[in-house]
Amino acid sequence: MSAKIIDGKAFAATVREKVAGHVSRLREVHNIVPGLAVVLVGDDPASEVYVRNKGKQTLEVGMNSYEHKLPEDTPEADLLALVARLNADPAVHGILVQLPLPDHIDDEKVLNAIEPAKDVDGFHILNVGLLATGQKAMVPCTPLGCLMMLRAHHGSLSGLNAVVVGRSNIVGKPMAQLLLRDSCTVTIAHSRTKDLAAVCRGADILVAAVGRAQMIPGDWVKPGATVIDVGINRIAAPEKGEGKSRLVGDVEFGSAVQVAGAITPVPGGVGPMTIACLLANTITACCRANDLPEPSDLTA
Ligand code: NAP
Repeated sequence: MSAKIIDGKAFAATVREKVAGHVSRLREVHNIVPGLAVVLVGDDPASEVYVRNKGKQTLEVGMNSYEHKLPEDTPEADLLALVARLNADPAVHGILVQLPLPDHIDDEKVLNAIEPAKDVDGFHILNVGLLATGQKAMVPCTPLGCLMMLRAHHGSLSGLNAVVVGRSNIVGKPMAQLLLRDSCTVTIAHSRTKDLAAVCRGADILVAAVGRAQMIPGDWVKPGATVIDVGINRIAAPEKGEGKSRLVGDVEFGSAVQVAGAITPVPGGVGPMTIACLLANTITACCRANDLPEPSDLTA
């Protein structure tokens, strides 16, 4: 048996199309153009690529994109001052500060300085609390993308056993909250979990968010389970030529695809959904800021 491949790239395109439709309506009917501000501190090459892609896709769906590139040695107070300006700017509906920040800047202080209603990354402590208590929150983009794909594949998730491997604030914990909210029975596993293989084998839904290349083999996957691989790991690929590399997930795709019922590939699975959900969150934030009904299928 070979699993159905959940095509995140195609799914993300449909999300962007929906977002673009809402952007047109907001512009035509209400004369509002949603705006997303992205702040990058320093010159980390991977972050620069992410920020470039975010800006490009923001413009492609018809929103305004505001990019703020600050030097590596920017004092924390200057970054906080920029966040305060963006908080007060009515043209900005979403604010994202690209992580990681340089060591001299306190991430939590900066994230918690963002106006919660504009916190399209969903990392502000208020949004974390709203999500945990089942209230209307801004939901972190990567887990939101995973949830959208799971709902599309399963319909209802109610009663399914879900195992989330990883307990980070940006993926594992919010993923677990979302699955719980959809009435899964949720287990959160991490580096201290005993007999991780057995825990994973109990999962109808297995979400891997670890950051270890191919650590989950196919024989940890319950036959027919849905596997969502969040991991993005670069490994050497000598078969492609000297010094070449390729991206792999946290799941050993070749063996897992033989056992699972459905699986996301890496690349082309969760990754493309993350930026699509950032755009979706910006629409949601813009509608809420203007007391307009928000699209029901673009948030949790
Ligand atoms: P993270 O903050 O490093 O957290 C990793 C988690 O994995 C931790 O909770 C850790 O447990 C757990 N872990 C580490 N080794 C383990 C082991 N041997 N067995 C079980 N659990 C183990 O990572 P993250 O930010 O959540 O990201 C996870 C992966 O997702 C990375 O590959 C990252 O690049 C990728 N990612 C992808 C996207 C996307 O858009 N597709 C977005 C975000 C992240 P402890 O807490 O016990 O240390």
